[in-house]
Amino acid sequence: MQKSFDDHRKVLVTGGAGFLGSHLCDRLVARGDDVLCVDNFYTGSKDNVAQLMGHKKFEVMRHDVTFPLYVEVERIFNLACPASPVHYQYDPVQTTKTSVHGAINMLGLAKRLGARILQASTSEVYGDPEIHPQVETYWGRVNPIGIRSCYDEGKRCAETLFFDYRRQHDLEIKVARIFNTYGPRMHPHDGRVVSNFIVQALKGEDITIYGDGSQTRSFCYVDDLVEAMLRMMDTPADFTGPVNIGNPTEFTMIELAEKVLRLTGSSSRLIRQPLPQDDPRQRQPDISLARKAMDWSPKVSLDDGLVETIAYFKRLLAT
Ligand code: NAD
Ligand code: UDP
Ligand code: UDP
Repeated sequence: MQKSFDDHRKVLVTGGAGFLGSHLCDRLVARGDDVLCVDNFYTGSKDNVAQLMGHKKFEVMRHDVTFPLYVEVERIFNLACPASPVHYQYDPVQTTKTSVHGAINMLGLAKRLGARILQASTSEVYGDPEIHPQVETYWGRVNPIGIRSCYDEGKRCAETLFFDYRRQHDLEIKVARIFNTYGPRMHPHDGRVVSNFIVQALKGEDITIYGDGSQTRSFCYVDDLVEAMLRMMDTPADFTGPVNIGNPTEFTMIELAEKVLRLTGSSSRLIRQPLPQDDPRQRQPDISLARKAMDWSPKVSLDDGLVETIAYFKRLLAT
């Protein structure tokens, strides 16, 4: 394997031009790693990594992970996959391919190189859960044939592949189950609830509450999430996860809407729209394992994170 001339690692981030991936690239470059960002720009954009362009430790490659990739790296963060329901349901077959073929290719790459590989999995593997809060030992309640299945089952299959490459080829794997995360660089039109509510509030448009708004989510600020991913990658080789990463403070969608209205000073009205099919009723991570194994817990409150995110969308809408 080709080694860097200094001590810093060569790191591949797939989906590196997306929301989470771009923040991860920022942190890796800042600490001196040599970063290769691979992205097909399906939902990500060059704007998200514009601040890194021209940096000697940063490189972008346009590539679709459903095709083989031959590069030389020591660590792989596999984030490539559209994450918002609107985007992953737009081309569901491609979504499954990205999770499954993408995982096979990145695991094949890791196997050839002896590289350590981390999978960005999701709380969606728990589906609409009967166990609350969700613990890693819970197997989930996922509809295999619904409109969310391309994402949920794709991510579940990717987890299976990661653990089979571990058992069969002794690969160093890490599986992080990410719960709802928000922050600057979310796509303004990706339909996720935090970006929708903020953009609607800032534009004075109606705030769209799906269903009665009593369903819950637990929102993690992006900086906390990236810190957890970095720590997870550096855990001892025998620690594979899966491990929940998220903020355990739970809110209803009505509570979220009210917070956004207060923090933006908007007078938008709340309106009801139909609840999408298979929308999980509640979601809250049990993060005991992350606390113990990675000495990690989120630091940013929803109010503080929303203030940063609102400032970002204000700047975006102004241009
Ligand atoms: P995002 O859509 O902003 O980023 C995904 C990135 O992957 C984009 O840049 C996109 O262009 C790229 N991509 C998609 N298909 C690809 C392909 N076939 N080949 C190469 N690149 C491809 O989403 P995000 O919120 O940054 O999510 C990143 C990862 O984290 C995803 O795997 C997602 O499933 C996972 N995740 C995110 C959340 C969250 O709340 N943000 C929650 C759970 C899991
Ligand atoms: N692969 C890749 N880059 C590599 C090595 C492998 O993209 O550096 C892909 C290759 O397309 C292969 C897949 O990873 O189909 C799985 O590789 P593995 O070695 O596990 O299995 P193979 O299919 O080669 O027997
Ligand atoms: N939601 C909503 N209004 C919106 C967008 C989403 O009420 O404009 C709800 C959605 O039905 C779900 C929750 O907010 O119950 C979180 O949705 P999101 O798409 O952000 O993430 P996920 O459902 O994948 O957790």
